[in-house]
Amino acid sequence: MHLSIVIPVYNEEESLPLLHQALHAALDPLDHPWEVIFVDDGSADHSLEKLQRFAAQDPEHTRVIALRRNFGQTAAIAAGIDHAQGDVIVLMDADMQNDPADIPMLLEKLDEGYDVVSGWRYNRQDEFITRTLPSRIANSLISRVTGVHLHDYGCTLKAYRREVLTGFRLYGEMHRFIPAYAGSVGAKIIEVPVRHHPRRFGKTKYGLERTAKVILDLFTVKFLISYAHKPIYLFGGTGLGLMAASGLMLLFLLVRRLWLRVSVFDSPLFVVGIMLLILGFQSILMGLIAELLVRTYHESQRKPTYTVRQVLNGGDKRQGRSKE
Ligand code: UDP
Ligand code: MG
Repeated sequence: MHLSIVIPVYNEEESLPLLHQALHAALDPLDHPWEVIFVDDGSADHSLEKLQRFAAQDPEHTRVIALRRNFGQTAAIAAGIDHAQGDVIVLMDADMQNDPADIPMLLEKLDEGYDVVSGWRYNRQDEFITRTLPSRIANSLISRVTGVHLHDYGCTLKAYRREVLTGFRLYGEMHRFIPAYAGSVGAKIIEVPVRHHPRRFGKTKYGLERTAKVILDLFTVKFLISYAHKPIYLFGGTGLGLMAASGLMLLFLLVRRLWLRVSVFDSPLFVVGIMLLILGFQSILMGLIAELLVRTYHESQRKPTYTVRQVLNGGDKRQGRSKE
């Protein structure tokens, strides 16, 4: 088993030497070959110089990727995954809030046959009102919507088998949804409590505003997981619902006209009914266009609509959705 640790770094100069030491202390005793990939996300302090020094002193274990500007944590993680050589990839933060000493325990769980081992900061050391509380609400919402129940989507410290990371690209702030995606393609996921320390140096890059982004991302994720292969069910279903509501309203007006001789045009229901009819029809048309897009998406990249765990006596094992 070859191990890659991917760490995004944005203005973390004070933490880096401690982190580098702690990684060696945790990983050198293991039998596995390992590498750490630091991705400098356009830091404005001396993080990059520090990383360059590690790379020069420790070429066997340390690799550094310097992005041209600040692209955000998710993009930095994606760059690290793209350059990682290991068949197990561990993600973590650079600020020493996650503890490298937890990594061996994550690996043991992978050995038990899991595909994703998700760290859970059961004793989270962040501000309650702006960080911990919104995160709790977000976690229960994400768990319910995606069906992958985790206490802590926001904890970066998680270990993944490479295959579950290859079938998709990370956009926006989506790295926290990797376990949900992995769950949707059949990965076996387990959650383990990990340590969490208060930030000692520098400051957090996020605040309350991230919660809004997480909620919006959740819409995208839910759509991609549940309807990416059959968008007409969502759009068409909505359309049929709207048209049915409209039909009931217009029918009511018609019956009233025939029995009580009240003019159809006297009621606002008439306008509302016609509007719902048009909206419903439009929604079905949008669903049809989405169906075309789905076909273009899958067929242009030869992405299968399934994922394979194992093939017996049948040539190469291919990972569904991951042919790129
Ligand atoms: N980070 C990054 N690019 C950014 C913001 C953050 O690479 O634009 C890194 C940061 O250096 C850290 C990790 O992402 O290693 C998590 O950031 P932070 O500790 O600020 O988040 P928090 O732990 O407060 O959620
Ligand atoms: Mg942090």
